[in-house]
Formats: sequence, structure tokens, C-alpha cells
Amino acid sequence: MYYKLLFMSTPIGSLGSGLGGGVELTISNIAKEMLRRGHEVKIVAPQGSVSSSLPIKEIPGELQIPAQNQTRTEPIFIPKNSVLANMWDYARQVQADYDLIVNFAYDWLPLYLTPFFNRPIAHLISMGSLTDVMDHIIEQVANNFPGTIGVHGQTQAATFTFADKCRCLVNGMDLSVYQFCSQPGSDLAWVGRIAPEKGLEDAVAAAKITGIPMKIFGLIQDVPYWEKICQEYPDAPIEYRGFLPTHELQQELGQCRALLITPRWIEAYPNVALEALACGVPLISYCRGGLTEIIQEGKTGFLVEPDSVQGLVEAIKRLDELDRQACRQKAETEYSLEAMGDRVEQWFQKIMRN
Ligand code: UDP
Repeated sequence: MYYKLLFMSTPIGSLGSGLGGGVELTISNIAKEMLRRGHEVKIVAPQGSVSSSLPIKEIPGELQIPAQNQTRTEPIFIPKNSVLANMWDYARQVQADYDLIVNFAYDWLPLYLTPFFNRPIAHLISMGSLTDVMDHIIEQVANNFPGTIGVHGQTQAATFTFADKCRCLVNGMDLSVYQFCSQPGSDLAWVGRIAPEKGLEDAVAAAKITGIPMKIFGLIQDVPYWEKICQEYPDAPIEYRGFLPTHELQQELGQCRALLITPRWIEAYPNVALEALACGVPLISYCRGGLTEIIQEGKTGFLVEPDSVQGLVEAIKRLDELDRQACRQKAETEYSLEAMGDRVEQWFQKIMRN
């Protein structure tokens, strides 16, 4: 049985810009795998979105501001000529051509619109609880359309009062893109959007204390935040490598001894952790959010006390205890495209049968 799937991307940035964070890679990976399985897929995304192999319908309009920049009680903000609204207007017009609409945006509007559509909508929620208004609308959909709320991890689900109504889908990577590297250099790595919720300054502080060079990869989303880190740690042994396409990122990341993950917030299930494992790179992370589900303590990484630079430093000293082969193995058994494809396809089937 083949399905016609309409994928609705995030309205905070075009695909390929990096503004959408992990959602960009997740949507492209799920699309790739669904196409491989014979399903039909179209991705609806903001204008400027690029992909060499995926069918994209570009939609013009003003971008949304990221939800992580909002306070808990803030109301919903929708700009004039909103790309989000335009994308969902397009979906309304073409819905009869599809069996299922899949929403990848962490935004109020698609959730609110769910009962107004004729076609079922699956919502893949990429972040934990951030604002009251989002919690409220997600819960409403979870109650009125059982089984349609997907999340990545259990700790992410647990940030919501309706955790038991969320379907956990984990994540998956195209492992053929990531090469296993058994003989790394001595550098550490940090990968992600450079923004306050990612806590980059702690990783920089750990690099400074240990004196071990650290490469930084990712989009500078918050320029003043980045400049402040550079001013505070002028002599830290860090090198900013830019925002790299996946094939280049994996090449450089694979050469590193470990990936430091230092989130201030509950990360749902960071793609960068799975990408590192796929290259055989162990993880040193704060014991917070999805990382607690990903890391096998003492084997594929170390979980350290949240917000403790000293904890990072101690873990770095013990890196030799970790097993790079076990990292790749973990990625192959749990985070392959095939494994993720099975989980996602079953979810889609269940929604369409209801
Ligand atoms: N990324 C990239 N090039 C870089 C650095 C990061 O393509 O140089 C991508 C990375 O592959 C990942 C995303 O940026 O898919 C970050 O997503 P993650 O899920 O780790 O965190 P989020 O940004 O969603 O909070």
C-alpha cells in the first residue's frame, strides 16, 4: 500500500538555511526513506528551500520567529503575509491529492487548523514544553485526534502533562552518509545552532581548562551571544568552522575525539548526537533531555551534572574508556533510516486507519 504524503516544513527558515535546526535534516531523512519505500512525497517549505533530490513546493512569505526565543506566557505571533499561513493555505487547496498531511512545525496554527481539514494531519513535535499556549493546543489535538501527536523522546514527552498521549518516534540518519572513523585526531567538537539555549560557553570553558582544541560547527543564529563568548574566552583553543553541509560536517566531526553537548534546555533528541555516533564519535553531555535516552553511560559517552563545566572536564579526562565501535553500532541498530522508517510508517498507517 503506497501513500501520498504532504510534508509541511518549519516556517522559521528555508530548508538548507540552518535556521530550522534539526527539523531540516529530520524532514529530509523521513522524506528520503518514504520515497525509497515507494510512497509519494511533496515537501511544502518557505521560499529559498533547496534540495538536490527531494520534491519541494516553495511558498513565499514572512518567516516565523523561533519558539525558543519566547517566554512561557507570550501569546502567538503571526506576521503579515505569514509564510506559515501561506503554506497551510496551499495545503488546504491541495489536500484532496494526498492521503496524509505531516506537520513538522512547532507552531500553533497547524495544530489549531487540524479539525478544519478533510485529510488527517500527523504532527511531529520537535521540542519539549516551551509556552503555555503551545502546550494547550497540542493537548487539545492529542485529546481530539488520538495518536496524531508524535514526539522524538520520552523525556521530551514528559515535559508535557499529556505525555501518555504522545507517540515516541526517536530519530534516524542515512548512515551511508556518515563514515566510521576509528583513528581520530585529538580535537573535541561542538555542533549546533549557536544560540543561548545550546550553552556553547560551557564547552568553550572546558576546552580552555583542559587546553584541548575544540572545533565548533553550526549556524551563528545569535550574533551578540557568539561575540560575547569570543570576548569572554579570547584565548580558548577554539576554531569556528562554519555551517557545513552534512557530507563535510561528518568528515570533520569523525576526526574528533568527542562531541560536547551542553544544552541549557530539554533537548528533545538532538540530531547532532546521532550524527556523531554514526561517525564513531562518543558523546559528553549534560544529563538532560533526550541525551539521557541516547547515551550508554561509560560505553558511548558520559552524562555529566547539568551546567557543570568541571563535570565536562572530568569526563574529557576519561575519554579513553569509551568505545568508538560501540557508538557506530548503536547508530546502526537504533538510528538507521530503515529503523526510523518502520517507526514512522507504522505511525502514519495507524493515523490513516482511524
Ligand atoms: N548542522 C549542519 N551543519 C553544521 C552544524 C549543524 O548541517 O555545520 C545541522 C545538524 O546536522 C543538525 C542540526 O544542524 O541536523 C542541528 O539540529 P539538532 O537536532 O542537533 O538541534 P536543534 O537545532 O534542532 O535544536
